[in-house]
Amino acid sequence: MSAPAELRRGWCPSLARPMPSGDGLLVRLSLPADSVPPALLRAIASCARRFGNGLIDLTSRGNLQLRGLSEVTMPGLVEAFSSFEGVASPHEPAMICDIIMSPLSGLDPRAVCDVRPMVRALRERLAHEASLYALPAKFCITVEDGGDFGLDHVAADIRFKARLLADGSSFMVALGGREGEARPIGMCAPSSLPEIAVALALAFLELRGVSEDAPRRMADLLKRIGTETLLRSAGLASRLSHHPDIVEGAASPALREPGRPFIMCYGREDDPACFGMAVPFGQLTADQLDHVANETEAFGGEVRLTPWRAIFIANRSAMKAMETSSRLEDSGLITRMPDPRLNIAACAGKPACVRGTVSPRKDALRLGRVAQGLALSSPGRRIGIHISGCAKGCARSTSTKATLVGRDGRYDLVIDGTAADPPIREGLTLEEAKIALEELEEEIEAERMRDPHWEKHL
Ligand code: SF4
Repeated sequence: MSAPAELRRGWCPSLARPMPSGDGLLVRLSLPADSVPPALLRAIASCARRFGNGLIDLTSRGNLQLRGLSEVTMPGLVEAFSSFEGVASPHEPAMICDIIMSPLSGLDPRAVCDVRPMVRALRERLAHEASLYALPAKFCITVEDGGDFGLDHVAADIRFKARLLADGSSFMVALGGREGEARPIGMCAPSSLPEIAVALALAFLELRGVSEDAPRRMADLLKRIGTETLLRSAGLASRLSHHPDIVEGAASPALREPGRPFIMCYGREDDPACFGMAVPFGQLTADQLDHVANETEAFGGEVRLTPWRAIFIANRSAMKAMETSSRLEDSGLITRMPDPRLNIAACAGKPACVRGTVSPRKDALRLGRVAQGLALSSPGRRIGIHISGCAKGCARSTSTKATLVGRDGRYDLVIDGTAADPPIREGLTLEEAKIALEELEEEIEAERMRDPHWEKHL
């Protein structure tokens, strides 16, 4: 069933169509899918200061958003960006949909292939299919290189995963869902990836209809009509091949726990491909973005934005990585584990968002220790607490051990659910919520002590 209307996310804000928010207008920038040049990062930081409130979001899809803009400052921002190569002009139509690729493609030594050429071809092909501009705003395609950085956590509509077969690399095609829920439908050659994606997206549009409650995501449509109907409409029966691999499901062969790998040098021990840093709660200041740009240049590397609210700087020098990492840590970015901020998902809330009556990110700093404890008993074992400004749950759509949901300046508590689920406690102050979470942590700990095999249940 589709989400209730009041909980649906709105359109994606762009330079051509900014979105009103609690702290002014919000604009999402359409950036290159692979690396972002340091000069462009500096330009974005400068625009955030001049035209916005100096805050920049790194979204869960690896996009950058400027905040705190206004009707008065928008023309200046549009003019500034019309001269930047790499940012879609406000006069172009909005991007058809997000395409998320393995962030280290071309650098990951364990990848099956470099997917950047396929992603470029896909972008170009989509841009020539005018009817696809009718796709819902959240429609998303993932392209994985088969290496260490799987994208199973991304709620995608169409997935391509590189697999190495006896006769070369090929892509497993899967539809909808996340974390193993996606439905594999066959294999395709790298060269046919763009055409397969277009055929599936057009079939989605045709079959979803235009009614008010038309499904907005592939997974919702498949629940209504089934995979076979979609494949028939897309005319793909003879264009996809079958392989024993696809019966295994769509999980990546070597998915690393999101949150771990990007806080370290990555690659072979003697030849690291990059190091990474997490952005606390997905929000950077303009000064921090300047730091990233400057250190990237000093490091001689390139920047890759990731869908884990983290940034990779790719290069091949472990020593330089260590020096750079400690300077970036001084600027407030997270460069080493453990850090309690990595165990909490928190949205902007008040005052940035008009729907928020609480300030989740400020309150999150009080709950770091208990979040670390609860993370151990959470699916995926990274996020222990989700603090949401309201039941919309923008920061996290999946189930969490404990979710605090803001309402009238206080919090409701949901256990093992999302922000939209029924709470077990209501109207808590932050202090009361903290005590309730500590009691929950103690209960879980006591349960563990009684069950010698508790680790099997994680
Ligand atoms: S979840 Fe947070 S950011 Fe999203 S609408 Fe509610 S208060 Fe705003």
